[in-house]
Amino acid sequence: MRLPKSLIDGYWRFRRERHAPEKGRYRQLAELGQSPTAMVIACCDARVDVSAIFDAGPGDLFIMRNVANLVPPFEPEGKFHGTSAAVEYAALVLKVPNIIVLGHSHCGGVAAYREKLKGNVDETSFIARWLTLLDGLEVNERDIAAYDKETAFELAGVRQSLANLRTFDALKEREAEGLLTLHGLHFDIASGTVIELDERDHFAPVPEEAKA
Ligand SMILES: [Zn+2]
Repeated sequence: MRLPKSLIDGYWRFRRERHAPEKGRYRQLAELGQSPTAMVIACCDARVDVSAIFDAGPGDLFIMRNVANLVPPFEPEGKFHGTSAAVEYAALVLKVPNIIVLGHSHCGGVAAYREKLKGNVDETSFIARWLTLLDGLEVNERDIAAYDKETAFELAGVRQSLANLRTFDALKEREAEGLLTLHGLHFDIASGTVIELDERDHFAPVPEEAKA
């Protein structure tokens, strides 16, 4: 029943080196609740360390992780919608001003979908069912030219999830009122580079200084 040693050691380092120096901040978060800058929808992939990428601290990010960072369309009759529940909570209760869909390089989920298209995946698995959210994916020719086919698929997945977020009326309304901004990002594991979807619907590196 023991945790792996690396996790026990890591936990105690966290207690000493991170929690103790920020005790006041943690206490404040416990008492006043969370007010995160953004919700981030990221992949489960262990290489995508969301808080590290944004150098974020406790309380900064409301993170939902699932296979291939997907958002289903609004489906009130559906059964167990973990991602939709998190989106709803972030938008309606926490009233986050930003929702970020964060794709990443070498995404096993997106690769599995491409295998599925070739008939190489068991259609009855949970993963295959979940990845049908990528059905009808429109891969952008410009993305293929600017990056490569694998990345272009991942970017198309990010675009699809952004489109699905806009099927939630509450989000569409908050976006129209200027209370919410939706962002599409992609993280390259090897280089650490994050590109973002801009106003022209192009993915480009995040500039060093935040735009005014
Ligand atoms: Zn992934």
